[in-house]
Amino acid sequence: MASAIYVTLVPLGENTIDLSARQLERAKNWEQVSITLSVDAPFHLVYTVQYIQIAALPFRRSPIGKLRSAAVTGAGAAPESTSRSHTMRRFSQEWKASTSPRPAIWADVPDEQLNDWKWQLSHRLNSLDELQQLINLTPEEITGISAEDKFRLDITPYFASLIDPDDPLCPIRQQMIPKGRELAAFTSMMEDSLAEDAHSPVPGLVHRYPDRVLMLVTTQCASYCRYCTRSRIVGDATATFGPKDFDAQIDYIKRTPQVRDVLLSGGDPLTLSPRLLDRLLTRLRQIPHVEIVRIGSRVPVFMPQRIDKQFTDMIQKHHPLWLNIHVNHHREITPELAAACERMSNAGIPLGNQSVLLAGVNDSVHIQRRLVQELVQMRVRPYYLYQCDLVEGAGHFRTTVNKGIEIIEGLRGHTSGFAVPQFIIDAPGGGGKVPVGPNYVLAQSPGHVVIRNFEGYITTYAEPLDYDPAAIRHLEQEIQRRPEPGQGGISELLEGHQLSIKPDGFDDTHLRGREEEHRLSSDMHKWQPYGVGDEVALPEAKPKQKSPVNSEKG
Ligand code: SF4
Repeated sequence: MASAIYVTLVPLGENTIDLSARQLERAKNWEQVSITLSVDAPFHLVYTVQYIQIAALPFRRSPIGKLRSAAVTGAGAAPESTSRSHTMRRFSQEWKASTSPRPAIWADVPDEQLNDWKWQLSHRLNSLDELQQLINLTPEEITGISAEDKFRLDITPYFASLIDPDDPLCPIRQQMIPKGRELAAFTSMMEDSLAEDAHSPVPGLVHRYPDRVLMLVTTQCASYCRYCTRSRIVGDATATFGPKDFDAQIDYIKRTPQVRDVLLSGGDPLTLSPRLLDRLLTRLRQIPHVEIVRIGSRVPVFMPQRIDKQFTDMIQKHHPLWLNIHVNHHREITPELAAACERMSNAGIPLGNQSVLLAGVNDSVHIQRRLVQELVQMRVRPYYLYQCDLVEGAGHFRTTVNKGIEIIEGLRGHTSGFAVPQFIIDAPGGGGKVPVGPNYVLAQSPGHVVIRNFEGYITTYAEPLDYDPAAIRHLEQEIQRRPEPGQGGISELLEGHQLSIKPDGFDDTHLRGREEEHRLSSDMHKWQPYGVGDEVALPEAKPKQKSPVNSEKG
């Protein structure tokens, strides 16, 4: 282990304390202190020893006030913020220009190579030997890494350098390093839990919602998340998409005018060569009814080096283009990621973040609050917090749904509104995204809505008793109604276009075996609600047979 690099802390008038480089790397709480350095050959000083951890080290109880507060000797100015601080960070330009600590195994790699995304891709870690050089693996991790049928394992050197080598509970480590338990089956587990392939008119194109499609352009990622929703294809180079698939996908979009929004995903679209991505975006942009293009990518997180000038120059030709990154824990937010986000924002790309609620990684109100507050500092708007899907390999990451609701409870009102993501269950079986959250409406009556706020304050909103929802009609007529067919949903019920939504097989069940209409069941008009929906031509009702008694009375 690379523990031959020693940093000597010199508290004023106290004993000298030696710290190994490993301990430094594990640092979670930094302070600016006076230090002297002594480096034991043959290791280079690869840890940027500008800041020294105080709280989590063995001398935790030593009075910090006795450590001289001063600039660090020979290591440049201390930044305003660091990646492991327990306190909220403010991201200065100086910090964004700095770099994350570099583990000893890459000590001799020139900076230009480390900062080259192609080098990052070609030097990913995926074997037990490589990972053991960097991380003190647990027996369960060794089992997971050694499993033959595991989901693909690859980690960029940059992202691997953020892993705490001595802490199996490190949130980055848990997302990246397989564990034996990930192979365990669990109830309701599925290979394709969102039924994406069932909603796919052509390979790699998922048309689930009325006006938008998901276009899978690759199965490759820069690194692989253990909980991946698309692990059925992701990582498998033989299952990836090629020119024929792109033609079929684009042809479908061209002949489906209701598609106004195309989301490129995969795998990770940013692992495609810049020329190929450029070509795909150009083809999409040539389709008149495609209004916006979105990209979902974790490349800025795994390999921020990829967000270079060539990329931003290319991407900004294709506006309006939106991009969602995927950060789950604030330790993924580094100077490199912050600088990459800045480059994208400066290229006019609105940035959002999708995170997944993961047990033991980010299932905490406080961790989520810090995450979202740091995201908005990077001009990244928290967009979705997903409940972990029922997908193979993700069993041990799943939380209860009420943990997610508790997190939203702890965010809404407690931090800026635009920093609060929507908590989403992606409905198993292909039901699409369902927002879930705390209930703020406690009771309703005509004229009153009783609501509560985040503090528990309960109040009443008095509704107008003379509100006329029809007064907007003349302006509404200027707006085109949703042109695409189907999927009206609850909105159709509220607008009065439909009376009910029936589950599959509802009518058959309620026929109760009836094979022919009887005298009371044949007149369909009796179930036609007045003023609801379009007039439907119904079969003429058979004339009722009048009984002699009735006719006499009538
Ligand atoms: S980056 Fe996305 S697609 Fe790739 S492994 Fe992670 S979750 Fe799956």
